[in-house]
Amino acid sequence: MHLASTMAVVAALLIGSGGLVTAATTVDGTAIADEKSGANWLSYGRTYSEQRYSPLKQITAANIGGLGVAWFMDLPGQKSLLSTPLVVDGILYFSGSYSVVFAIDIRTGKKLWTYDPKTIDAAGDRLRVMWDSNRGISYWKGRIFVATADGRLNAIDAATGAEIWSTMTVDPKLPYFINGAPRVFNDKVVIGNGGTEWGPLRGYVTAYDTATGKQVWRFYTVPGNPADGFEDDTQAMAAKTWRGEWWKHGGGGTVWNGLTYDPQFNRIYLGTGNGSPWNQRIRSPGGGDNLFLCAVVALDADTGKYVWHYQTTPGETWDYNSNMDMVLADLTIKGKPVKALLHAPKNGFFYVIDRATGKLVSAEKIGRVTWAERVDAKTGRPVEAKGARYEDGEELIYPSAFGVHNWHAMSFNPDTGLVYIPTIDVPGMFSDKGIKPKLWDSPSFQFDPGVDLMRDDLPLKIDAGALVAWDPVKQQKVWEQKLPGVWNPGTLTTGGNLVFEGRTDGKLLAYRATDGIPLWSTDVGLGVSAPPITFEVDGKQYVALLTGWGGAGVSMAGAITAQHGWAYGAQTRRLIVYALDGTTALPKSPPPQFAQALAQDDFKVDAMQAEQGSYLFLKNCVTCHGGGAVSGGYAPDLRASQAAVYDEAFKEIVVGGSRRQQGMPGFKELSDADLKAMQHYLRRQARKATTAAQLGK
Ligand code: CA
Repeated sequence: MHLASTMAVVAALLIGSGGLVTAATTVDGTAIADEKSGANWLSYGRTYSEQRYSPLKQITAANIGGLGVAWFMDLPGQKSLLSTPLVVDGILYFSGSYSVVFAIDIRTGKKLWTYDPKTIDAAGDRLRVMWDSNRGISYWKGRIFVATADGRLNAIDAATGAEIWSTMTVDPKLPYFINGAPRVFNDKVVIGNGGTEWGPLRGYVTAYDTATGKQVWRFYTVPGNPADGFEDDTQAMAAKTWRGEWWKHGGGGTVWNGLTYDPQFNRIYLGTGNGSPWNQRIRSPGGGDNLFLCAVVALDADTGKYVWHYQTTPGETWDYNSNMDMVLADLTIKGKPVKALLHAPKNGFFYVIDRATGKLVSAEKIGRVTWAERVDAKTGRPVEAKGARYEDGEELIYPSAFGVHNWHAMSFNPDTGLVYIPTIDVPGMFSDKGIKPKLWDSPSFQFDPGVDLMRDDLPLKIDAGALVAWDPVKQQKVWEQKLPGVWNPGTLTTGGNLVFEGRTDGKLLAYRATDGIPLWSTDVGLGVSAPPITFEVDGKQYVALLTGWGGAGVSMAGAITAQHGWAYGAQTRRLIVYALDGTTALPKSPPPQFAQALAQDDFKVDAMQAEQGSYLFLKNCVTCHGGGAVSGGYAPDLRASQAAVYDEAFKEIVVGGSRRQQGMPGFKELSDADLKAMQHYLRRQARKATTAAQLGK
């Protein structure tokens, strides 16, 4: 045994309860596969099955009324908190903004260490395409693995927070980023990446040796240029489903979220992403299925070799990626046992897949879906609706690119047999009017998916979210609770007949799992974007939640989240831990704040300049500041920004990069004329907002 890991074991023993030496859990494949033990939360989805179900039942539907705050920790400097914490023997670990990892002693509520991978310093121009958010970490034999937004995978000592190794997993010259959680199995750690909207990216996942950080295998989710030779027969097979010169645009298929390890078959399942670009007429003119976009792909976990795939959206052209979580469950369907994989990708269908074979068992709509009528049971393929491919130029389609279900994880409760899914009911206008497929070129560190997205979004007050309880055997809804807003977080379900879910409006609720009756609600003072977890220390069950508003719905799509008033930097970020005898009062967070757009009446808006500014804004600024310049709280609302009004201040920030440490990159290539055009655009948007406010809209 290495000295470092010996030290880790000793430290873990000493940290045991109140000076008593307790046996430390060896976090390996056996431990992570253990569904029955509820004390720890060892993996992103708790166990390998990714069910987010805890067998703990000290907190139940009968006594939930007594749940209160045991303790909380303010997290100054943190911004987006999306991550699922892990718990190992009374220590809680989580990744925060820019992949800073925290270790907290649950018994004392005290911080043990933090690890800062200095993501902003390492990011270079990738600061333009990434967010601060990180969805989670993994733990294996005394080591924690965290990916950084700039593309590194780092191993750290769980006892001390010291870095053990660091591996760059992407080409830093390309706009790849990572905010997903790595997964571990068989002394290997696997990670994917994202970024297809900002450059010509080819998706892949890579497995590394947990001891050394050395690459074990890599699997590409889309084929490269045939002239370079294919990596293997799988790539040659996939290439037959593509047309044109797709490799020039990368193809896409990045694996930015869903990864599930299946110990029963020793396979890893990838949930693959959308096309690069979205628009298939550009990416693969003439059509084709475009394998393995928008698919579940099964690989041998030890070799990374292809086993099977099931494609949810052949020939995708709507950003309907299949990156959502994949949950493993043993079901009985029509009297037969099925080793099932449950998957609810963006496209709005709920899929039950036989994971032994990769064959579709069933698929039904869980929300409003107009791009396809149904999934054909025989072929396993969607029956697309006429017009869905916006072949006549533009089409309003359900769902939008945010999907009926996004990355906010669902949970499955084997007691009730139900899946608890946060859903969205919003259409998208898909258009490629004015785009010439042959002339379109991939962006480089700028946003452009090859679809003309609306650039003038104004804040919407929409309550189009729901928590849906779905029966995967009968493929039908059992209950539903409407939710405020749209961008609601992931769920947790327990042996106490409970479902927990935070909400966009700053509340955490518990529902009765069987019938959806709300039983308990508490105000956390900020929109929730992270899923809760539960665990047990010294015989007591706790529920923990990170509060920190974030994700693409808060950054790019500020128009659908601005209604909540979780303004940039305004509300307190926290870790909150609940228990049945908890009586700690949570200090009030600052109330919702709404952008006061500066109309600046003496500024004459030039329509042409404003239009030019809108293009520049979409390419360079929308990633963080929001479509239509409406901030959902991730970055300052530029319609209200004083700095954006003054030429010199604006230039110092936008070109000079003076706020880089706050996450704002410099755009050296922007000219004074470009900045002026953006100012015209911002004033135009500010006046639209003030007019809308005056009209009471
Ligand atoms: Ca995408």
